[in-house]
Parts: sequence; C-alpha cells; structure tokens
Amino acid sequence: MKKISILGATGSIGQNTLDLISFEKDKFKVVGLTGARNIELLARNAIEFNADVVAIADESKFYDLKNMLFGHKTEVCAGDSGILEVSGRQTDWVMSAIVGSAGLLPGLNALKSGANLALANKESMVAAGPIMKQISSLNGVKLIPVDSEHSAIAQVLRGEERETLAKIIITASGGAFRSFSKSELENVTPDQASTHPNWAMGQRITIDSASLFNKALEVIEAKEFFNLSASEIEVVIHPESLVHAIACFHDGGMKAHLGPADMKHSIAYALHEEKRLKLPLDEINLAELGTLNFGKPDLVKYPALKLGYEVVEHGGLAGAAFNAAKEEALDNFISCKLSFLGMADVVRATMDELYSANELNNDLEIEAILELDRLARSVAKTFVEKF
Ligand code: NDP
Repeated sequence: MKKISILGATGSIGQNTLDLISFEKDKFKVVGLTGARNIELLARNAIEFNADVVAIADESKFYDLKNMLFGHKTEVCAGDSGILEVSGRQTDWVMSAIVGSAGLLPGLNALKSGANLALANKESMVAAGPIMKQISSLNGVKLIPVDSEHSAIAQVLRGEERETLAKIIITASGGAFRSFSKSELENVTPDQASTHPNWAMGQRITIDSASLFNKALEVIEAKEFFNLSASEIEVVIHPESLVHAIACFHDGGMKAHLGPADMKHSIAYALHEEKRLKLPLDEINLAELGTLNFGKPDLVKYPALKLGYEVVEHGGLAGAAFNAAKEEALDNFISCKLSFLGMADVVRATMDELYSANELNNDLEIEAILELDRLARSVAKTFVEKF
C-alpha cells in the first residue's frame, strides 16, 4: 500500500485528491491530513480514510477537533508545529496543497522526510524553487508538478531532448473579467472576482486568476520546474482552458497537452507518478467543441504578468518578495481595503522599493526568504494605505 499524506486536505485540491483516493482505497494508506480551520471536514475525512494523524493550524480548534475524533485512533495535533509534525511523518507521497506561503516549510519538511512531493502549492516554488529542488535531489525524492499547466509541460516534454526545445507556451483563461475593459475593472468586488468561468478552485487562486497574478506565479513556477528563461516562456489567453501547455521545438514542431478543466487529471498523474491509469473522469469531445480560441494577453489590463516576468529575470529573493507582497495585497482586496487594480499597484510599488534598496540580492537561504517575506508584507502594508 502506498502511504500518503495531504497537507491542505480540507481545500479544493485536498478534496480532489481524497476523491481520487476513494476510487482505489485499497491501494492507499492515509497517514496524515491537515487543515487550517475546517475541523468538521477534517474530522469527517480522518474517520472515512482512517488517518493516523491530523493537524489543524488554528490552535484554538484543537479540543473541538479532539472531541470530534474521540473514540477513534487518529492522533490530533495543532498549530504550525502540528502541521510540521504531520508533514514529517514517514510516507511515500505527500500532496502539498496548503494555500500561500504557509505551505513552504511543511512542503520542505515532507521532502526532507523522504516523501515524493506533489506540489500544488506554487508559492513554495516561487519563493524557494532552488531550495526545493536541492532538497529533493539531496534526498533522492521527486518534486512533481500538480498545477495543470506544469503537469502539462512535464507531459509534453516527456521523451524530448532539452536542447531541442525553443519555448513553452502556457495558457491563461483570462479569469472572471476577461471581457472587461480596464476601466470596468476599477470597481469589481471580491465576490465578483471569486467565481471562475471554467475552474472550481479555492477563493485566493480564483481571484489571482482574475488579476493574472496566478499566471505570473505560474511563469515563475515554470522557470523553476523546467529551468526556463523568461524568453522561453510565453503566456497565451485561451478562454476554453482545455489546452494547458504547448512545447515549441526548434524544428517548428509543437506538442500540446489538452485535458478537461478538472484538477483531478493532473492530481491523478502526480498521484500515480506519471503512470496513466483508467479513471472515471471526463473527456473532451473535440468534434462537439468545434473551436478553440487563443489570443495575446493585454499587459496594460494585466500588469501582474509583467511583474512576474521581472521576477524571472531578477531571480534570487525576488520571488519570495513578489509572493508576499501579492498575498498582502490580496488580503486587503478580500477585506475591501484595496481595489482590484490597486493590488498590482501595491505589488509594483513594493517590488520597486525592494529592488532599489538592494534587498533582493542576498543568498537564497530559507532564513533570508522568511525574513524577506516579513519585510515585503510590511512594505506592501504601507502602500495599501496610499492606493
Ligand atoms: P483552498 O483555499 O481551497 O484550500 C487551502 C487549504 O490550505 C485548506 O486545507 C486550508 O484549510 C489550508 N490552509 C489555509 N491557510 C493555512 C495555514 N496558514 N496553515 C495551514 N493550512 C492552511 O486552496 P486550493 O486548494 O484552491 O489551493 C491550494 C494550493 O494549490 C494553492 O497554492 C493554489 O495556488 C494551488 N493550486 C490550486 C488549484 C485549484 O484548482 N484549486 C490549481 C492549481 C494550483 P481550511 O480549509 O481548513 O481553512
């Protein structure tokens, strides 16, 4: 039986992963599950999947969770240390699906404990890609992309020589407001931004998809996963979200990966470590579909994308700063203290300040990343008040 843990089990990716496991319960032993606040779902999943251990990030919910699991053999932990306890348990495979930079240390811990890590938490690669790769190679474990575009890149590059690759195209749906003009974006609300036309995802990534901050994170993630330069990564708007990535080769040939807009496909590919299993999932019917559309992203409407490319060019600690400033801006948009367009203004101002103060050139070490995360959030806070 394959021993697995799911970090961020109560979220959208976590639940999709558990759905896949429920198709083949006899093949998996669930070791650990974690959540932040949703103890009802965590307890239900712990009982259904007979988990050895669960952790809830919000310590105030520890006793309620313990009561819910009274009479069951599942151990209960809480707080950041509890999440680390679960991520450090011996397993064969861990899904890293905590949202935001809170996923970084648990993901690293899982790699150090010898698990292959399926990485949905793109923020870890953005902030600390070289460290993630180094620890995975030192421990002889795999770092497997889960993001649909990055899973697609891995699939189209399979069997190809790196030298023959000219560039990678990743697609963006354009999010909730793809038909809006820049002036129409001025007054959009968090509720409006929290619905995606194609994908069912957590609130934060859904809003990041509408602003294209998610695509900016993915451009950086693609650089880290596949050792690409900025000029080797192109973003194309593709409203149908069916083509996820295309590899373009020097001989003019292109290989595209298509799949339904359902994360179960790339999670299954990661769960079975690149083996293709027969699964009860949807398929695309091209004849019924008829047309696929592609277009150029509007960099005036989506300044986030340009910021992402600057991070790829700069490297070092720029990814950690960018992600932290973006998270601070997003928190303020969700709590209605910042406008939708103000998010990119805050991140631009924060990055400019940190670039010019020479704060992003230190060595990429975990302490420096955590320190810079705090600094970028506090600089971004000062700009939230101005925009
Ligand atoms: P959700 O918001 O649906 O779930 C997030 C999970 O993280 C929940 O289990 C949540 O717990 C937990 N969590 C939140 N804050 C903390 C914290 N401070 N410490 C520990 N756990 C925490 O997010 P998604 O599932 O949508 O996304 C997860 C990750 O996967 C993100 O990095 C996202 O960018 C990436 N991703 C998601 C895709 C998707 O389709 N959803 C697609 C590609 C990538 P609780 O629910 O109890 O609050």
